[in-house]
Amino acid sequence: MSQADFLRKLQNLLGTPHVLTLESDTAAFCLDQRQRYHGNPLAVALPGTRDEVAQLVRLARQHRIALVPQGGNTSTCGAATPAQDHRQLVVGLRRLNRVIEVDAANRSMTLEAGVTLARAQQVASEARRLFPLSLASEGSCQIGGNLSTNAGGLAVLRYGTMRDLTLGLEVVLPDGQVLNNLSGLRKDTSGLDLKQLFIGAEGQLGLITAASLRLFAAPTARATALIGVRDAQSVIDWLNALQEHFGDRLTTFEMMSEDCMTLLRHTHGERVPFCAPWTILLELSDTAEQELLYQQLLDWLATREMLDGVVAQNQTQRSTLWQLREDMSEAQKRRGPSIKHDIAIPSSAIPRFLELAQQALYSRFPHCSIMAFGHAGDGNLHYNVSYTRADNRDLFADEASVNRLVYDVVYRLNGTLAAEHGIGQLKTHWLEHYKDPLALALMRSIKKQLDPDNLMNPGKWLSAP
Ligand SMILES: Cc1cc2nc3c(=O)[nH]c(=O)nc-3n(C[C@H](O)[C@H](O)[C@H](O)COP(=O)(O)OP(=O)(O)OC[C@H]3O[C@@H](n4cnc5c(N)ncnc54)[C@H](O)[C@@H]3O)c2cc1C
Repeated sequence: MSQADFLRKLQNLLGTPHVLTLESDTAAFCLDQRQRYHGNPLAVALPGTRDEVAQLVRLARQHRIALVPQGGNTSTCGAATPAQDHRQLVVGLRRLNRVIEVDAANRSMTLEAGVTLARAQQVASEARRLFPLSLASEGSCQIGGNLSTNAGGLAVLRYGTMRDLTLGLEVVLPDGQVLNNLSGLRKDTSGLDLKQLFIGAEGQLGLITAASLRLFAAPTARATALIGVRDAQSVIDWLNALQEHFGDRLTTFEMMSEDCMTLLRHTHGERVPFCAPWTILLELSDTAEQELLYQQLLDWLATREMLDGVVAQNQTQRSTLWQLREDMSEAQKRRGPSIKHDIAIPSSAIPRFLELAQQALYSRFPHCSIMAFGHAGDGNLHYNVSYTRADNRDLFADEASVNRLVYDVVYRLNGTLAAEHGIGQLKTHWLEHYKDPLALALMRSIKKQLDPDNLMNPGKWLSAP
């Protein structure tokens, strides 16, 4: 059975316009977000219903064609990029974009996998509820991609990751069967919680076609502040003090190093109100009166020591403070390339991590520059290493040594090398090195059981070596 035969049957199944074969049509599906990986697929299929996905999977299996599920293609680690050998079929989910149900009274909604995150938030908001997942890529990324990467973002501290926001899934398995578990249940002890297998699996165990997601009461009040403190330990002390005082009303707690804020000064000028050794962006949210929450934050801040501080007095000022945090990645990108690490350690270990990682890097690369920022409340840092002098480009020639120095410290402190961006193609060999071999073997035995022919997103980290 030839590839031409397969494509012909696929066109019959989906309709010719939904099977892209011309390079000009497939190009956008072939390059990853950071432009590190470029693939050449056999074609791009755009199924429009769950049943079409199931039939497509069965057809591909008959022809032994490997499938690469793709959502918004915003993965930063090449997780959704096909191989270069013209043999893999990219399956784009964007036509599966229906809202199946919003059950405001149950605080849940059921969406198809191709709904973008921004639209999911909008659907929740129209029902006067909150879907709290929030990422800078939310205009493009899709619910299926968010599930498959167990996405995190800016409100994990209060609401958890995508894993915590999911009540049920519908998944087309690698043999074409449909596992339907779109329950809106918060409690269910009738066996193993199978949905968890597919969350964070990066499309290697099946194609997610729909999900039931948790909704929350929409906040009516927010209080946001930017605070300057003298060292990383003070950041963690602030985190704990805020949690003790405000409980889970503390929704966001981000930290940014002095170098990050200085860099932003160049691009944002006076909109950066100060540059302290460490800057905290914190936000409280509540269903109470806006004025009350604002005053409670002011009163509490009056009892604290800080180097500098700004409290947003209105929505415009709040957006300005948030913009600083959201523009951080872009400002660094404009400054030049860096070696990025999306790591997590227990938040109490952040000061130790920063100290040890800096020592290790400076001893080997004395002129390197370190940009550390991220979701301190979750222990998740974006730790980017670059050079300060043009003649110091050897840093990039030795990227593996930089990674090794950083990850050694991360694992010494019981951390992980992939907090929220996943493994994809980028970190497969590091996973082999640092992950508990038994845990990895168990994951791969599940993969073999579900996908014995290795046709679901092969070449990524779950494929048996
Ligand atoms: C500017 C920017 C900011 C970002 N910020 C964050 C952040 O704060 N937090 C965070 O967690 N991530 C962040 N990311 C990373 C990325 O946006 C997330 O990983 C997102 O969840 C990926 O969704 P996607 O739809 O683009 O998935 P894709 O990139 O298309 O795919 C990602 C993985 O999911 C699989 N997949 C996609 N859809 C399905 C499906 N329906 N069924 C099965 N498998 C599927 C793919 O095969 C691939 O393995 C950011 C990215 C960018 C570019």
